[in-house]
Order: sequence, then structure tokens, then C-alpha cells
Amino acid sequence: MSAAEALKAARAAGIELGIDGADLVLEASAPPTAAVLGLLSRHKAGIVTLLRPGRDGWSAEDWQVFFDERAGIAEFDGNLPRAQAEVRSFACCVGEWLNRNPVRSPQGHCLGCGGGDHGHDPLLPFGIEPTGYAWLHSRCWPAWHAGRKAEAVAAMTAMGIATRAVFPDDFGKNGGV
Ligand SMILES: [Zn+2]
Repeated sequence: MSAAEALKAARAAGIELGIDGADLVLEASAPPTAAVLGLLSRHKAGIVTLLRPGRDGWSAEDWQVFFDERAGIAEFDGNLPRAQAEVRSFACCVGEWLNRNPVRSPQGHCLGCGGGDHGHDPLLPFGIEPTGYAWLHSRCWPAWHAGRKAEAVAAMTAMGIATRAVFPDDFGKNGGV
């Protein structure tokens, strides 16, 4: 059983879980059974990792929930086969990760090559207003953006999402963001 499965089993038993530093905090209306407590203690570290929010404010579990929701929508509302629905959902996760982990850079230097703003080679702002812009030459953007997407894919993979949905190498071929 994985930590995620142990978490599911505990919730099914009516236990609410939270974290406090490196500790699991349990809340339940009735005392948990020894079997459930045993599960939780065996998987404690893994469950704490699942529930701990990353620097973008979402925990691995939040990402899993987001992924499952999107995959469900694509499968049932979009009538896609499950594998394709997961590919589409994975692309949504990558887009969401990029939005939640914005990059801002000072105006005047290209984030890609480090060069400056020239009349024949101007720096352009990429990004969205509330989080600020990353400044790049237009020719430097594709490689920089590909690197950002690879970062997002790596973050998803580290949380166990990509391994089921899609191999990163196939990502670009499937209508990624
Ligand atoms: Zn540049």
C-alpha cells in the first residue's frame, strides 16, 4: 500500500488529517481502529509529504485532486478514452503549475541570454499582469519556455502524476500548453 492509499483508507474510516511541522494531526469523531492507526504510523512520513504544501501553495495531494478532476471532465464530458483524458489533464496541470510558479525578471536584461534591450533586438515582456513579467528577446523565448515546461513536468513527475499520465517526451506531441 502506498502513502496515498493509506491516506484514502484513513479518510474512509472517518479520520481527518492535517500536518503540524513533521507530525500528522488526526481528528475523528470516534477512536480510530488499531488497523488504521498502524497504517498511518507506517506511512506517516509519506503522508506528511503528500499533505505539505509546496512553494506554490499546493500539496502533492492538491495536484492529484486537480489532475483527477480534469481527467474526469475530459473523459466523461469530453468523451475521450482514459489515456487521452489523462494526457489532456496533464497538460492542464503543467499550465496551472506555470501560472502558480511565475517568473519575474528585472527589465533591462534577457532571462535567456543575459543580453540587453537593443533597438533591433528588443526585450519583450512575457507573463501576466498580477504576477509581473519575465523579460526576454523573442528569439530567446522558445528555449526558455521549453525549459519552464520541463520544470513543470519534472515537478509533476516528482509527485507521481506524470508517470501514470504521460511520458514527458510525448508531452509536446499531445497539444500541450
Ligand atoms: Zn536574449
